[in-house]
Amino acid sequence: MTKGPYIGAHVSASGGLSNAILNAIKIDAESIQIFPGAPQVWKPANHTHEEIEKFKSLREHNKIHEVWLHNIYLANMAADNSEQLDKSINSVVHALNLSSKINGAGVVLHTGSHKGKGFNKVQRKVISSLKKILSLAPGDVKLALENSAGQGGAIGGDFSELYYLIDRVNDQRLGVCLDTCHAFAAGYDLRKKDEIDKIIQGFQDSISVDKLFVVHANDSLMDIGSNKDRHENINEGYIGNVGFKNLLHNKFFRELSFILEVPGFQNKSRKSKGPDIENVERLKSLLK
Ligand SMILES: [Zn+2]
Ligand SMILES: [Zn+2]
Repeated sequence: MTKGPYIGAHVSASGGLSNAILNAIKIDAESIQIFPGAPQVWKPANHTHEEIEKFKSLREHNKIHEVWLHNIYLANMAADNSEQLDKSINSVVHALNLSSKINGAGVVLHTGSHKGKGFNKVQRKVISSLKKILSLAPGDVKLALENSAGQGGAIGGDFSELYYLIDRVNDQRLGVCLDTCHAFAAGYDLRKKDEIDKIIQGFQDSISVDKLFVVHANDSLMDIGSNKDRHENINEGYIGNVGFKNLLHNKFFRELSFILEVPGFQNKSRKSKGPDIENVERLKSLLK
């Protein structure tokens, strides 16, 4: 395997987990992210033992560096309703178990929403939800809280909220997924090297930079501080090549997977086509 950063993408696993590897090969992705099941459905997908073995051998053969699972979108670690909260917790435990079975790196999680109540009002509930998840999960799989664009009551627009949760839960498996589009939308100007240095300093001062587990590499359709979560193809948005070059050449990002979650070029009008080889190549070219 080549050295990092590893340029990867969210790929479809529909029709069977092993299809994710075939989809990765098509676009030269070095790491991948997949959904454990349909992202808008509570009921977990059933992956057979055979399918998991097929996935693992195909992955081994094609040297995919990391496999991340993205938890379903319905989960909210701050849900008011106890049934919703239980379902949310179970969805993450399920994903962590699947990650362990497929030798995945871990699970990326949108922590949830306080629905306007404010982070302070829900932080205890979120901490206890995360502790419960980690007590029920297998020993070795990482859980990465993704920073949000700060839209509505989404937790983690400000990295300090994630630092707080991670510090209080105090489990070595818990860390951060940095989404570039969300960070930019929340006001972090990734086009400036010193802003990235400030983010790294924030990690070091509060939870350590080892807690940065993975990157979602998405350009932003909207300008800085918009609080809008609108992904764009690499160098077609406001972050542009300059921002991605800053990140890819920063030593603290050297060992990380950069997972694309962008609309893609050929089928932009069609929904959910996703990252393509053009986006992968654009990121790879910035490494040179
Ligand atoms: Zn993301
Ligand atoms: Zn997003």
